[in-house]
Amino acid sequence: MLQKLVGLFARGGANKRGGFSLDGMLERMDRHLDHFTTLVRPTPESSPRTPFDTDLPPEQISTQNFTFRQILKMIPEMVPLLIGMQRSARMYDGRFQPTKKEASPGFIAQLEALARAAGAKDIGYVKVPRNAIFRDKGIPHEYAIVFTVEMDQVPIETAPSFACMHEVAHGYKNLAAISNKLAGFMRQHGFAAYPGTALGGLTDYPHLAELAGLGAIGYHGLLIAPGEGARLRINTIYTNITNLPTLQAQGTPNEHLWVRDFCAMCKKCVRTCPVNAIYEQPQPRGDGGMQIIEPATCRDYFTQNYGCGVCLAVCPFSHSGYEKVQAKFKGNPNAPQFRIEPAA
Ligand code: SF4
Ligand code: SF4
Repeated sequence: MLQKLVGLFARGGANKRGGFSLDGMLERMDRHLDHFTTLVRPTPESSPRTPFDTDLPPEQISTQNFTFRQILKMIPEMVPLLIGMQRSARMYDGRFQPTKKEASPGFIAQLEALARAAGAKDIGYVKVPRNAIFRDKGIPHEYAIVFTVEMDQVPIETAPSFACMHEVAHGYKNLAAISNKLAGFMRQHGFAAYPGTALGGLTDYPHLAELAGLGAIGYHGLLIAPGEGARLRINTIYTNITNLPTLQAQGTPNEHLWVRDFCAMCKKCVRTCPVNAIYEQPQPRGDGGMQIIEPATCRDYFTQNYGCGVCLAVCPFSHSGYEKVQAKFKGNPNAPQFRIEPAA
């Protein structure tokens, strides 16, 4: 029933078995990019977006075997999320004509206040490196606003579970609502603004969030940030504002990169992943990013087990909080260094 409902709202393509395809829905949303004659394109080495669809039979897919109560609980999250994502995609109709490309500090302060009032935990800015744009995709402008929302600890710590999946869906719903609100506000003030879709997207969000200085990518591949650690979700808004206060423009280094020195000692996510999908040590990908997990291995377990999330739940940063981990950490001079380079 939930699948049918999702299919109704999302109007996605069919998967190989004729059921609802999340990848099909995302590809359909991406077709709004056809309205643009020029896009910022990825590098030839850029990675493809990780697909969601699997070949698993329906009886093994958690979302296809929800109880009636679970379906009722999920509807208030999924329906607004899908409507919000459709709304984001429709903003790529190629019609908006910006009248400004430089924002005053006052406007940036207003935008940040609006984001926080709408539920964003943190907000940062980045010039998008082309290697962070997924293969065969493109973005309308080379600057992006990146923001996070927090997820509650109690349900996340039950992963893998319906409660954890529900909390993640709640996070995505909030991302979609906030990005549309901020993009509308930016357009009202004359700036181009294109919200990233909460699920999927055109760029690698943790990569952008690290470059924006919101945190650092841990060995589980998730952003680790002050406060909630990895219990967050990320979204972006692509914009023509050229004077955003990026770390690079301010000459400020990312102060969170020590996190990976901690990871090199911890590796709890590596040991705890039920299917050993997380590499012992991140692998440089050749496109400037890092390959941290084996996506196909993760995906099947993820699909069978409510979106898994064990790596997120066991991470000491999610558990104790960033500040407590930092206070106890004495440093690790032998940690291998992995640095994601900003756009030139
Ligand atoms: S569990 Fe440990 S190794 Fe994995 S991301 Fe968290 S801190 Fe890093
Ligand atoms: S989501 Fe689960 S399966 Fe995937 S990497 Fe994390 S712990 Fe492993």
